[in-house]
Amino acid sequence: LILNPTASPALSPIAAMDAAHSVHPHTNLRRHLEQGPSIITRGDGIYVEDEAGQRYLEGAAGLWCASLGFGNARLGAVAAKVMTEIGYYHNFRSASTPAAAELSAKLASFAPPGMDKVLLQCSGSEANDTALKLVWYHWAGQGQPQRRKIISRLGAYHGTGAVTACLTAKANFHTGFGLPFDGFLYTGMPYHYRHAHPGEDEQAFSSRLAAELEAMIEREGPETIAAFWAEPVMGSGGAVVPPAGYFDKIQAVLRKYDILLVADEVICGFGRTGEMWGSETYGMTPDLICSAKSLSAAMVPISAVLIGERVFNGMMAQTDRLGSFAHGYTYGGHPMACAVAHEVLTIYEEMDLIGHVKSVEPLFLAGLAGLSDREYVGDASGVGLIGAVEIVTDRATKAMADAALMARIDAATRARGLIVRLVGNRVALSPPQIISAAEVQEMFERLGLALDEVFGAVR
Ligand code: PLP
Repeated sequence: LILNPTASPALSPIAAMDAAHSVHPHTNLRRHLEQGPSIITRGDGIYVEDEAGQRYLEGAAGLWCASLGFGNARLGAVAAKVMTEIGYYHNFRSASTPAAAELSAKLASFAPPGMDKVLLQCSGSEANDTALKLVWYHWAGQGQPQRRKIISRLGAYHGTGAVTACLTAKANFHTGFGLPFDGFLYTGMPYHYRHAHPGEDEQAFSSRLAAELEAMIEREGPETIAAFWAEPVMGSGGAVVPPAGYFDKIQAVLRKYDILLVADEVICGFGRTGEMWGSETYGMTPDLICSAKSLSAAMVPISAVLIGERVFNGMMAQTDRLGSFAHGYTYGGHPMACAVAHEVLTIYEEMDLIGHVKSVEPLFLAGLAGLSDREYVGDASGVGLIGAVEIVTDRATKAMADAALMARIDAATRARGLIVRLVGNRVALSPPQIISAAEVQEMFERLGLALDEVFGAVR
């Protein structure tokens, strides 16, 4: 074993191994070599524990995904059974397994009306990449192959693959990679606190964003636009809840120009916004839904594209012409992942997932509201079990907290035994959907204490 000679001698053997060999996303690689990782060893309920034995309330559910929390013997038993009985089979050329068939049917029963076709793959990025290809495949089949351009929103995150990073509209995913490719357009971010004009209320702001979208479509040529891509609530964009009227007005524009709507529900799906789908919360009627994360409670890598009738009919017409649907992954419909996801959906039914989220949502929103009068909080908003506070150094000018200040907040929350997700100057919360009322209160208590400590204020 060759350990990195510059790694700190204080690292544990496991941390030293990781520092020497494991390349980490969203990490300064030199700093990781020198300082090593934080190693999480176990978890139970909404808590995780690091190798030093410190426990943390996981207020971000990992990466917005561990809906049932951490460690789960019931899911472990399901995985072990499938692993023992078959372990692997694929889904190419009409092959299937009971697990893949059962998951597809169950997921269709969770889906919004009219979306009963399910295409399985392994990650949220793959789901978005697949959906993009379905959009293009559909339009080519409709005799409109020139409909190639995709519109997403500034600040959006839809994945990290070469093409999904182009749907993503955050500069750090493009810079250094020579992205985006041509044909990816970005319209305004629906974040009222920061992007509304002075005196513009939420409805007026939504109307302006819809008008800007329409102007972009007219400028580009409506006949060249294939789809509009949106998360119901922008997750990695900062847990940003859309302004009143937003999706009604946007969808009216899309309908006018016959542009497909793809809802990226990778974070919002399965109760995050207080309904089964964020699309329901905001009255969206998407043609395609991308789903992952809570689909399997993040216990196994699996994602799904839910396909509405219009796109599916277009795809069928294409395979009538071309012979077969030339797209798929070795691990798409993996039986172990499917069986675990099926069990997760069964657990959601048993626990009344939506009823539970609705029961704790008022406390969650009250926790956010309770922080909103702090001098250093500019915006505090959320829905269901997703939300954020935006940290400012001057409420009048909305001056954003810088990276150094946010790093202090990160350290202070961890010292209080709380993990949050920092997005720029926003502190985002998306705890596991199983969080209890008492745990919601505990989460906000820890966050409030940590923030007050950093700002040296009582109030
Ligand atoms: N779409 C959204 C909205 C996401 O939040 C993410 C991941 O955070 C993705 C897509 C990509 O998912 P994955 O990391 O599984 O590729």
